[in-house]
Amino acid sequence: MNLLSIVVPCFDEEENVEIFFEETSKVLKNQSFEVIYVNDGSNDSTLDKIKELAKQKSNVKYVSFSRNFGKESAIYAGLKYAKGDLICIMDADLQHPPEMLPEMIEAVENQNYDIAAARRISRKGEPKIKSFFSHRYYRIFNRISKIEIVEGATDFRVMTRPVADAILKLNEYNRFSKGLFQWVGFDTKWIDYENIKRAKGKTSWSFLGLLRYSMEGIIAFSTVPLTISILLGTIISIVAFIYMIYIIAKYILYSDPVQGFATIMCAILLLGGIQLLSIGTMGKYLEKTYFETKNRPIFIVKESNIDDSD
Ligand code: UDP
Ligand code: MG
Repeated sequence: MNLLSIVVPCFDEEENVEIFFEETSKVLKNQSFEVIYVNDGSNDSTLDKIKELAKQKSNVKYVSFSRNFGKESAIYAGLKYAKGDLICIMDADLQHPPEMLPEMIEAVENQNYDIAAARRISRKGEPKIKSFFSHRYYRIFNRISKIEIVEGATDFRVMTRPVADAILKLNEYNRFSKGLFQWVGFDTKWIDYENIKRAKGKTSWSFLGLLRYSMEGIIAFSTVPLTISILLGTIISIVAFIYMIYIIAKYILYSDPVQGFATIMCAILLLGGIQLLSIGTMGKYLEKTYFETKNRPIFIVKESNIDDSD
């Protein structure tokens, strides 16, 4: 029988560690599985709760980071430490319904899919404004990047070993999982579900955090913003050239006295703005390159009960 490794990134999830294990165990009665909790530098007693559970259950494993590295890093670490033939990624807060697991496992084991992924079809219990921005974002992202991310796609996935290995090969520092999963390819079965409220605790995503994350996604998978700068530059140059000829002609024909303060101000301010915007955009890409070239590790482990000798 295939061993299923369930990777669970945890950041301040002390109240969810145990119920998560209970709920998943319930639906995995006839499945051999291990749960790998990745403690992403929690500030509460998440790690103690995990250790307690690991004492009682031999199939509870953990990896604990030296600080908070972010969910994407936690996923990477989990995939690295997972020993299973099938690997699953799930949130600790039970927003990813464990009841879906059997169907997902079935798709990967018997229906020739490499990945079974959950797609959230409703956004009930979420602010309208968040849904609106998220919808817009997917549309823009898919237009300007070469890969296509499915709206509502979550990180809740069951995948085969080769898929996990492929993801691990993408060892970039700036990780946008949704894009990485799409980038590696393979056959994905999408399984729909309705949004569910968090079991305990609160989300660690602020609006600004989400905004930053979405920008990172675009920068990681598209260079269209750079092309926009070039396009803007070209258009403005052409317009400026035509305007220049007009001004010279006007001067020669009518020898116009000094005038046009408003025009100059508008031109300086507009061009200054566009220039800064373009430099900023370029800077963002440079920033990413800068961090990639440093080649820093994606995560640092402080302690773990998994033997990582192989
Ligand atoms: N998480 C993490 N590191 C972080 C933030 C979140 O490992 O820096 C985990 C968190 O514990 C949870 C999952 O990522 O298991 C999803 O986080 P959350 O529920 O806050 O996000 P949301 O469901 O609101 O998108
Ligand atoms: Mg959540």
